[in-house]
Amino acid sequence: MLHKLHTPTVLATVLFFGLFISISSGYLLYNMEGEKIIREFHKEVDEHAASLHRETIVNFEALRSLAILFSDSKTPDWNNFSLEAKSILSRHNGIQALEWVPLITHDQRNAFESKPLLNLPKFEIIERQKQGSMMIAPVKEVYFPVYFVEPYIGNELAYGFDLASNTTRYQTIISARNSGLPTATGSITLVQEKGDQKGFLAFIPIYKIRGLSTEERRKSNLLGFVLAVFRIGDIYLNSIKHKVIRNIKITLLDETHPLDETILHNTPNQGFEINNEIIYSKKLPLLWGRQWSIVASPTKEFFTNRRNVLPLAVFISILVFTIYISFYINFISKRATAVQKIVIEQNQEINETNKKLKLLSRSDGLTGIANRRYMDDFFEHEWLLALRNQTSISFILIDIDFFKLYNDNYGHPQGDDCLKRVAKQLQSILHRPCDLVARYGGEEFSLILPQTTNPIKIAENCRASIENMNIAHEYSKNSQVITISIGICTVIPKIGTPSRLLIETADKALYIAKNKGRNRVEEISIDMSDFNFHKRG
Ligand code: GH3
Ligand code: MG
Ligand code: MG
Repeated sequence: MLHKLHTPTVLATVLFFGLFISISSGYLLYNMEGEKIIREFHKEVDEHAASLHRETIVNFEALRSLAILFSDSKTPDWNNFSLEAKSILSRHNGIQALEWVPLITHDQRNAFESKPLLNLPKFEIIERQKQGSMMIAPVKEVYFPVYFVEPYIGNELAYGFDLASNTTRYQTIISARNSGLPTATGSITLVQEKGDQKGFLAFIPIYKIRGLSTEERRKSNLLGFVLAVFRIGDIYLNSIKHKVIRNIKITLLDETHPLDETILHNTPNQGFEINNEIIYSKKLPLLWGRQWSIVASPTKEFFTNRRNVLPLAVFISILVFTIYISFYINFISKRATAVQKIVIEQNQEINETNKKLKLLSRSDGLTGIANRRYMDDFFEHEWLLALRNQTSISFILIDIDFFKLYNDNYGHPQGDDCLKRVAKQLQSILHRPCDLVARYGGEEFSLILPQTTNPIKIAENCRASIENMNIAHEYSKNSQVITISIGICTVIPKIGTPSRLLIETADKALYIAKNKGRNRVEEISIDMSDFNFHKRG
């Protein structure tokens, strides 16, 4: 069955589909795994954003407890402020400093600047010059100087700094004053910052009276602001204290003003290659007027660390299976071809043997010409043909003269040899394929000649040619050589004519030939009028 399908085509199809299935399933699994890793990446970034938001809220809320000190128009002194601020700072290490920034009108400036403040250096309202160094603030209507600062050490530069002298800070102050809401600045360089870390400030406005409903009333009742100083890097580090972010490059952006995005913080690169094709951006909830967002990209290692061998294993397994199947098909096909070859060879052998057997069953063992059995079948067949076609059929019976004497005197083996030679000679006389020479029995031969015009002539040829062979027979009573006597009968069969009649008549003719002295040909005709009554119709 397999060989009929043409093995190379089957193999090519199996290999093609096997390769296709192995590559596509490997690729599919690889992609599914990639998508799973991206989902994990998104989840990590989401968790990180939530944790950063929590951390910021916790730090911001700490400022509210400081604001309580300033309620009911009571302004605490430095000591009270310092005590509460220290307590807050000890609990929130994301806060770099806590400050009280009072609103000081120009009239009040002298009083503030002359009042000694514990054992700190003299309080002076200052601002930053364009060149960067500090200077005494010029005369203005109002000032928002840093008055209390905790801790003082490390923040000395901020002490007395007029926040109104800086645009970013001033805008935030005004916005907080007018709205009455806690408000944070964008990314700024802190006055006290010595490194390159960015910071920001968060303000809570303090009024003489609580619950002011209009902007106008808030403006006229403002006492100042409590403020917290944050270093963005510190908040960020606090947020990842409990969960380390590995193999993700994170940028923290301030997108409060969409046209003026600022980078708040960048995670260090850690020397890994970043996969810039995958960017995930996550907005943090709006907090104290600031819209922060996280923009993250995984490193190549984020993927390689999470990939497993399954896609490759599936690819290889299907490929190996395909190759195995291909070899198996090839093997089966070869075996089928080999078996088929053997079967064909055996069939040929059987056919040849059958042919031989058939030939053997038809031929006479001694002379090799047709035997009596075959002659009978052949005769019946030719008889029916002649009957159907209304053509003639001749039967010639040949008998060797005095053969018993030949046998008795020359011996049986020589007798056999003589029979063979006579048979061969008789056969050589007949040339038409439709004629048959057969051994009729003993030393007798028969010729069946369908549609023969002159059978007597052929019989005469046979007789003469045997005599001319000159096979010595000195014991013959009519000659010195082997001779034959021949009886002939020819007929166009009629329906009802028994076929044996032809043979019996030829036998009679032979008998006559014997009686007339042997070595001669005799013919007898059959009177067909005897059989007419058998005709049909
Ligand atoms: P006739 O002229 O009247 O035919 O005399 P004949 O001796 O030929 O006739 P007969 O029937 O008396 O003898 C036939 C002989 O043929 C007898 C037998 O020895 C011999 N014969 C028959 N078959 C074979 C055979 O296969 N081989 C040999 N060697 N001799 C055979
Ligand atoms: Mg005889
Ligand atoms: Mg004889």
